[in-house]
Amino acid sequence: MTNNGPPETKLIVENLLESPDYDGIILVSSPDQKLKCSQLQSVISDALKYDPSLKTELVVLPISLPAARLVHSPTGPIDVDYDDVRIFKSSASDAIKRALKAGIKKPLLVLEEHPRFEHAELVTLLGALEALYVPIQVREHDPSKTQKVEYLGVFTHNSDKTKSLVTTAKILETGRRIACDIGDSDPERMAPPKIEQYVRSLFSGTNIKMNVVDNRSEFEKEYPLFEAVDRAASVQERHRGRIIFLEYNPTDTVQKTLFLVGKGVTYDTGGADVKISGNMIGMSRDKCGAAAVAGFMQIVNLLQPKNIRVVGGMGVVRNSIGSNSYVADEVITARSGARVRVVNTDAEGRMVMADILCKFKEDAINAINPHIFTIATLTGHAARTVGEGYSIVMDNGPARQMNNDQKLQEASEKIGDPFEISRIRKEDFSNYKGVMEGDDVTQSLSKPSVQISRGHQGPAAFLIMASGLDKHGSGSDKPLKYSHLDIAASSGSLPAPATGSPVLALAQAYLI
Ligand SMILES: [Zn+2]
Repeated sequence: MTNNGPPETKLIVENLLESPDYDGIILVSSPDQKLKCSQLQSVISDALKYDPSLKTELVVLPISLPAARLVHSPTGPIDVDYDDVRIFKSSASDAIKRALKAGIKKPLLVLEEHPRFEHAELVTLLGALEALYVPIQVREHDPSKTQKVEYLGVFTHNSDKTKSLVTTAKILETGRRIACDIGDSDPERMAPPKIEQYVRSLFSGTNIKMNVVDNRSEFEKEYPLFEAVDRAASVQERHRGRIIFLEYNPTDTVQKTLFLVGKGVTYDTGGADVKISGNMIGMSRDKCGAAAVAGFMQIVNLLQPKNIRVVGGMGVVRNSIGSNSYVADEVITARSGARVRVVNTDAEGRMVMADILCKFKEDAINAINPHIFTIATLTGHAARTVGEGYSIVMDNGPARQMNNDQKLQEASEKIGDPFEISRIRKEDFSNYKGVMEGDDVTQSLSKPSVQISRGHQGPAAFLIMASGLDKHGSGSDKPLKYSHLDIAASSGSLPAPATGSPVLALAQAYLI
């Protein structure tokens, strides 16, 4: 289980508030919370007498413990129906940033239970770790910046609980950091061959098997829709596409098989339908779906689930523009046999994923209790629909029958990495049916997703038809569960850092 992932923040399970090993205590709490730590409670209550605004304002207070300082990050009142656990994440992240400003290098994070949120302590710890992450390009440019603190102590009132919180948080954060390393980096640092190199080093010597497709003739034969997107970039060695397969097989009997396809467009120029008017900036984040698959596989690697088999497929490619570009009007026969007419080269994500999805469909037919996912920063429409910070899940018939979307949403809320539910409807299929003689599927509508109705649901219907999953609905001989996840709104838009979403939500829903 060795791995060469991003450096971890050193976490210490601490049993004593009085330990001399710290130079600052960090606490996140809401005004309605009754703290178990009477010492911290009295410092905060005293301060509130002088300044009632400290119910909502972040503050550094002197404290008569060896750590000498208390950084208190209040969540503000949590008393309406619409509050959710993410307030603990952002308050912890703010507290860490404030502590760093104060020069604290050895913080002790005190975690308190909250009556309303089961995972408030874990989410607080994850928020602190998120603030301590250093992007890979910063680490490589200046190795002295690799760690923001020497270590982070973690204290609860029960050392067994502290231990299990620390273990869980470490695993989840490592997966999230991998997704951030890949997703956050610029288009050259994480060009397709470099992503292959990063993932290879990550999983070498582990129980995750890796298999990479990198030759053009195999793309043409097996993944023709992917090949079309890769065509323009293929003239540059360092931009050539990769399909990276990762596989974990458990030691015990398999009870469930997860297949995850991730969109890894390392840079999206739009292709021949080039992005104009400043709309290209930030398109290095178009690889966050594939990044999430790598992060999720690392969590699988660290957890070694006994009965779950997991197969990942990262479609890593650059949507370049050049004389070799694919263009609108091309008709391409997909792996499934469906004849696909290209309408807009900027709708490349669905092209990148459809043939990998088709391959997983073929494999899923013989797999035990399979569930297939596509994960992608797919549409601007998704971002316009739900707004920054939310992923969208769309179930096909068989997945919906087992309430997958609701279960995923519930799990995602608990861990503070929320999903909204959207439905694939009849119109989505009719909108993407082929119109010219001989066409089976239309790749895109003629306007960008944000200018049309049902702009994020339609592409899910395209993926179902182009991969042949439409022959595996609830009424078929072999129904296959499939869920399309659009993370365009949750992956983090430049200049905000990449978030690693929905790695935490998926781990919470399907692994923990
Ligand atoms: Zn695009």
